[in-house]
Amino acid sequence: MNAPADSSVRVRFAPSPTGYLHVGGARTALFNWLYARHVGGTLVLRIEDTDLERSTPEMVEGILQGMRWLGLSWDEGPFFQTERMDLYKAAAGKLVASGAAYYCFCTKEELEQRRQAATAAGRAPQYDESCRKISREDAAARKQSGAPCAVRFAVPEAGSTKFQDAVFGEVEFANPELEDFVLLRSDGVPTYHLSVVCDDVDMKITHILRGADHISNTPKQVLLYQAMGAPLPIFAHVPLILGPDKTRLSKRHGATSVISYKDEGIVPEAFRNFLSLLGWTPPPGTKEMLGDQELIRLFSLEGISHSNAVFDRPKLDWFNTEYIRAYPAEKLLPLIEEEWQKAGVKPSGDREHRLATIELLKPRARNLKDFANSFRAFFSDGYENDPAAVEKFLKDPAVREMLVELSGLYANAAEFTEASTEQVLRDLATAKGVKAGGLINGARVALTGQAVAPSLFAVMVNLGRETTVTRLRRAKEIV
Ligand code: GLU
Repeated sequence: MNAPADSSVRVRFAPSPTGYLHVGGARTALFNWLYARHVGGTLVLRIEDTDLERSTPEMVEGILQGMRWLGLSWDEGPFFQTERMDLYKAAAGKLVASGAAYYCFCTKEELEQRRQAATAAGRAPQYDESCRKISREDAAARKQSGAPCAVRFAVPEAGSTKFQDAVFGEVEFANPELEDFVLLRSDGVPTYHLSVVCDDVDMKITHILRGADHISNTPKQVLLYQAMGAPLPIFAHVPLILGPDKTRLSKRHGATSVISYKDEGIVPEAFRNFLSLLGWTPPPGTKEMLGDQELIRLFSLEGISHSNAVFDRPKLDWFNTEYIRAYPAEKLLPLIEEEWQKAGVKPSGDREHRLATIELLKPRARNLKDFANSFRAFFSDGYENDPAAVEKFLKDPAVREMLVELSGLYANAAEFTEASTEQVLRDLATAKGVKAGGLINGARVALTGQAVAPSLFAVMVNLGRETTVTRLRRAKEIV
């Protein structure tokens, strides 16, 4: 079921720049982007940088870079929470004035002592609400006299807090299980709960799509919305991403930073397609390879599953090879040029030739790096021979001799086509009483440095007569 176009929908991606854009964050960003584009709404980018010690401008740049690589454009922002601190302080003040929150004068040491005592006595280490009992007048006077204090939310003593989640249905938490959580620390820095709700209200966010790890934060935030008299947004918590061993995806499972997949030669569209299926299922009968327009058209909150998704690396690699195969060479060329640059490959030949070569090679590519590594001989004379291939197919000096002879035959041949080069090679094999296969394998290594390549005669025509002749002539010198 598709939601109707609704330009009043406002979603946000709200990363904390305490690390690079990781797979889970990118998937959250993608789902928000898809939903915004699907309904014609607005995607706000908000950087939640209130953790001053752990947030860095490099991480912000890394997050933006990751989003750009994935082609996720935002419509408003980036907004930075550190530039909006007055808003949070004012909101905390209002909540105290209305009685929804109170000043807490407990010191770190006191809190720690009580926490330890509660744990030792087998009680939940929740805040004991001692400052909630201080009268408003006393609290105001103590604050006035300069006593350092935090602001805590006064969670209702009884009852429960409920919200509707578009993925998980009705979710309910008993209020006594929620502690009186801090809104503003004594140094004036807001906690995540305060800043996130203030911003979501101020930015008129209508739908909150985020990781399921935030479900337990949601009742506290719902209480804040209610205390602020703001309408609740629609929550949609997306399932966690697990590694193949079914534990939460982490560095133990390999790279988690999105940009590291770019570095591995993954095509951005392949990664985006792969990510889209981590927790979202397209309508039945839809194929899995979905370009951005199809993803946007098909995406729906109803399609988000509540069971955890597993990061299946072989599947990502499968998507990657499929995308490389499906892309026209013109689309691959700029991505491959980046790889050449990184690897220091200076490609010879003109653009036409490069495109034709990419076309020839792409069915065999596993990733974009192949074009700068194992396929290097197709683009430049500066390549290395694979020692295993040399050992396997050029061990016999007689084969090398015949390749040198072949080079002379090619140099003088009337024409140089796939058919003619094949005929010349087979005739030579017959004349020498050897199998053509041995010569073909040897020639492949002599021409490409690799044991595996496209059809040898297509390779020869692609390289051209001159390069073919030169490389075969040097067959004896290959080490
Ligand atoms: N900054 C929070 C995070 O990165 C945002 C959570 C939310 O979307 O509310 O986890």
